Amino acid sequence: MAGERRILLVGLGLIGGSLAAALRAAGHRGEILACDRDSNEICLGQRMGLIDGGSTQLAALVPGASLIVLCVPVMAMQSVMAELAPLLEDDAVITDVGSTKGAIRDAALGVFGRMPPNLVLGHPIAGSEKSGVAASNPELYRDHKVILTPEPDSDVEAVARVAAMWSVCGAQLLSMSVARHDEVLARTSHLPHLLAFSLVDSLARQDERLEIFRYAAGGFRDFTRIAGSDPVMWRDVYLANRDAVLEALDEFEAGVARVRAAVTAGDGEAMLGIFTRASHARHYFNTLLKQTSYQTMEQQNVRYRALPGGQVQGRIRVPGDKSMSHRSIMLGALATGVTEVEGFLEGEDSLATLQAFRDMGVVIEGPHQGRVTIHGVGLNGLKQPPGPLYVGNSGTAMRLFAGLLAGQAFDTELTGDASLTKRPMDRVANPLREMGAVIDTADNGRPPLRIHGGQPLKGIRYEMPMASAQVKSCLLLAGLYAEGETRAIEPAPTRDHTERMLNGFGYKVERQGAEAWLNGGGSLEACPIDVPADISSATFFLVAAAITPGSDLVLEHVGINPTRIGVINILKAMGADLSVSNEREVGGEPVADLHIRYAPLKGIDIPEDQVPLAIDEFPALFIAAANAEGMTRLRGAEELRVKESDRIQVMADGLAQIGVEHEVVADGIDIRGGAYGGGLVDSHGDHRIAMAFSVAALRAQGEILIDDCANVATSFPNFVALAAEVGMQVENLGAVAPGQEAS
Ligand code: NAP
Repeated sequence: MAGERRILLVGLGLIGGSLAAALRAAGHRGEILACDRDSNEICLGQRMGLIDGGSTQLAALVPGASLIVLCVPVMAMQSVMAELAPLLEDDAVITDVGSTKGAIRDAALGVFGRMPPNLVLGHPIAGSEKSGVAASNPELYRDHKVILTPEPDSDVEAVARVAAMWSVCGAQLLSMSVARHDEVLARTSHLPHLLAFSLVDSLARQDERLEIFRYAAGGFRDFTRIAGSDPVMWRDVYLANRDAVLEALDEFEAGVARVRAAVTAGDGEAMLGIFTRASHARHYFNTLLKQTSYQTMEQQNVRYRALPGGQVQGRIRVPGDKSMSHRSIMLGALATGVTEVEGFLEGEDSLATLQAFRDMGVVIEGPHQGRVTIHGVGLNGLKQPPGPLYVGNSGTAMRLFAGLLAGQAFDTELTGDASLTKRPMDRVANPLREMGAVIDTADNGRPPLRIHGGQPLKGIRYEMPMASAQVKSCLLLAGLYAEGETRAIEPAPTRDHTERMLNGFGYKVERQGAEAWLNGGGSLEACPIDVPADISSATFFLVAAAITPGSDLVLEHVGINPTRIGVINILKAMGADLSVSNEREVGGEPVADLHIRYAPLKGIDIPEDQVPLAIDEFPALFIAAANAEGMTRLRGAEELRVKESDRIQVMADGLAQIGVEHEVVADGIDIRGGAYGGGLVDSHGDHRIAMAFSVAALRAQGEILIDDCANVATSFPNFVALAAEVGMQVENLGAVAPGQEAS
């Protein structure tokens, strides 16, 4: 950018003027000149300090220009190019800002006979309904996208120079083909402008137009603001991008026809479907897109400060279980009738599952403070989604979806985020194929999964090579659509949430030891689901109370599925005063209130049969061990080394920082309880380790600072608030340089 000796803007209006202003604000030193057919605009640009000079005549300005930016309306591009062609110098790079690209490429072909390699078309996705240089804004492009549409034989250096100019203005660069650009913009920009122009015009033609505008409320103003945009510019856009705009208009008219039919028929259910999909789509897709900012957030070091000496008292309910949140949506959608869900975990992954069912035509209201209402469509009522179903980072969702989609009458594609697309899916695709499903995967059995609909499925007896609740659940869901019996046999028992919830929805699943089976062809009946609080999240508070003298805490409505209660058994074996009361069953799952009071803990050899039942709970249990009298020994826990982090090593490093005596072995750790101090601990982005050391501070002799805590927000969004509610002193210090000592 520093090398551009002279930038020439042809057309000094809002877009050209803002470009000059942004370059100036970024400290661009080279000359900026402008050509405009209105000499007043040039004088104004000079007075505003945006340009060094200009003229209404191109010929005077082109010699010596290294970068020429065409900022005139789309239909003026061809005549400007024709005037420019004989004047161009060899090393000049040309670009434009036009809102459509196909017509401008055609104009270039008409003038130059081919696309010159030094002509790189572009479009800043930023603007306003104002026009003219007076409206120039140096911040217009900051954090906005600029799309470049280079050709295969575009000069690489020319592309880089155009990109550099926009980067200097703070813009984010994207690249796509001309045709794709025109299609995308027709839908996202040209169509909404057309609708706004047309709506305001049709209202303005009515007799009572004054009254209409007098009473127009916020909604009308929001919707019609863009109808104040420049008419010439927009006329040119519709002349230039006619075909893509007409296609977008056809889709829109079909949509209006659907709403019209629903209104005509008084079909409230259909309206609710359209409106819930729309009102959530906007929020949902923006969240997805913010993954860029989410990643930036993740890169930042979020630090917690946990102070010693807090209390642990009261009654709380921790967030809902994630596995059950997913399944409640899936089974609620496949049931007949309306399923009301409470305690739904509003995490990104469960929201992705919810959106996927909306995409398949299921009307889902909420989530609103953990409440979701699902208007079930029955086992055969799903509709083909308009595009691939996205399941975020959730391996559980992808594998469960694979099973239930294998039995549908339509084709589907399942995709996920970058890390999910690296995970193997053959472990579900292979047995589903044995049942008769037709599934394509990418290389090495990885996502995306393309599932061909309309395949008759047959039940199978499948001996699973590995113990996996996801594979078992996938097969049982496919089994709902299969002829005869589907039986999954595991080498060891795994979590049985799917079987229990199917039973809760009135679908008979039988179980014996490590075998589960069902017969296809039945139906699910809607039932209310109060998603149990997640025992893994409850664990941090159980340990907090167990180690803090004077504590007395009730954790309400916690899921105590037998496959998850290792933490209760282990804490009891260590001497914790923990009682389970108010036991009941919700949607087939056992839940209870857990009451815990302080009692001195003693070190134990953790029974190996409890290890799989408490696998996620060990970071917190290590803190219990650090506060127990004597030695606690863990063995048979190799799996802990391949979780979100090498949990044994990362916990050991943290224990070392605060002075807890311990020794790591290949499949476990020995921890000797005793007094310990404060210090700075790195959680390595592992949410459970961050929360475990927040709990450790209760008995520490100094404050504990914990780095890399951003992920706590995804698994346990209100952890810090609940900690404060019971009397712990944990504070989110926000972004701090990693490793920096306390100030
Ligand atoms: P604008 O404020 O009206 O500016 C266009 C300027 O170009 C006017 O000063 C116009 O002069 C001048 N001009 C027209 N024909 C010319 C010619 N043959 N030679 C020299 N100057 C000429 O419009 P704008 O909003 O900056 O839009 C410019 C371009 O940016 C368009 O291609 C548009 O599609 C694109 N764009 C606009 C937006 C937006 O939101 N505004 C966003 C992205 C891209 P007169 O006033 O005398 O006609």
